[in-house]
Amino acid sequence: MKPAPFVRHVPKTLDEAVKMLAELAPQDGRVLAGGQSLVPIMAFRLAKPAHLVDINEIAGLDRIDVDGNMLRIGALVRHAAFHKAVVDNPLGRLLTTVARAIAHYPIRMRGTFCGSLAHADPAAEWCLVAATLDATMVASSTRGERLIAAKEFFAGIMSTALAEDELLSEVRLPLLAADAKFGFNEFSRRAGDFAMSAALVTYRLAGGKIIDARVGLGGAEPCPRRIPEAEAALNGQAPGDKIFRAAAEAAANAIEPLEDHQTSADYRRDLVRAVVRRALEQSA
Ligand SMILES: Cc1cc2nc3c(=O)[nH]c(=O)nc-3n(C[C@H](O)[C@H](O)[C@H](O)COP(=O)(O)OP(=O)(O)OC[C@H]3O[C@@H](n4cnc5c(N)ncnc54)[C@H](O)[C@@H]3O)c2cc1C
Repeated sequence: MKPAPFVRHVPKTLDEAVKMLAELAPQDGRVLAGGQSLVPIMAFRLAKPAHLVDINEIAGLDRIDVDGNMLRIGALVRHAAFHKAVVDNPLGRLLTTVARAIAHYPIRMRGTFCGSLAHADPAAEWCLVAATLDATMVASSTRGERLIAAKEFFAGIMSTALAEDELLSEVRLPLLAADAKFGFNEFSRRAGDFAMSAALVTYRLAGGKIIDARVGLGGAEPCPRRIPEAEAALNGQAPGDKIFRAAAEAAANAIEPLEDHQTSADYRRDLVRAVVRRALEQSA
């Protein structure tokens, strides 16, 4: 099928884009970034926006830079930008590891980091990264900039705290400590498919014991989030098989699993148990 008719608007500056959005969002206008989620759903006529504000020609939105302790990722940074480490910090390697699990190469060349967050698929890898690392989102509109913490940003399946006239202009990720360890694992039926469950873990070691543990889960519940029960099972313990299994068990018990025609709650819990344990094993 072909998309329903729409008008494409091409702002050249962020200022112009937010003015267009303020005018067009109430008339069923949407942002177009990489188009890797929006265009397929338009082609299936699951979405029929009357106006698209195409941000691809706005100079400067493709920047990635380090500001103090934060990595700043602009709205036009593609998934493929992370095929190589973008920063000399464990975060650079973490993002490279995760990027390889997103879809397929051509999709990674077009799809954007910020578009993935704005789309908020529960299983999206970048949403998991943002939730696990407590990212900050920068929402721009004609009212100015608003900072939104990851905990408040994800509001449900494909739903965020962005207002209809707000553009996600930047995401800020905290750099990791130089000695931080991380692990990532996801399960999907075929390579390139969305994950049925995914886990990201980070922590540090002090005197051989785990500190600052973060355990994030995606694809398991309507929103990606940190799992405090699993983090508590790790903090203060020496890394090892027994403690990794205990944390995985804690995560599996803590969730309210998403269910669908292929995936029962029990199966999803089992997947969570597996991906958390494997992510922890990778981290060690
Ligand atoms: C076959 C296939 C497999 C895929 N597999 C995966 C996968 O395994 N993991 C994964 O994470 N993703 C996957 N994707 C989705 C892909 O990563 C998309 O690129 C991503 O979800 C959306 O980014 P985009 O830049 O393409 O956004 P678009 O498609 O342009 O937009 C998506 C939505 O977000 C809004 N939006 C986009 N940018 C902004 C912004 N800056 N501010 C406000 N709103 C905005 C749009 O209005 C739209 O509603 C897959 C896609 C396909 C087609």
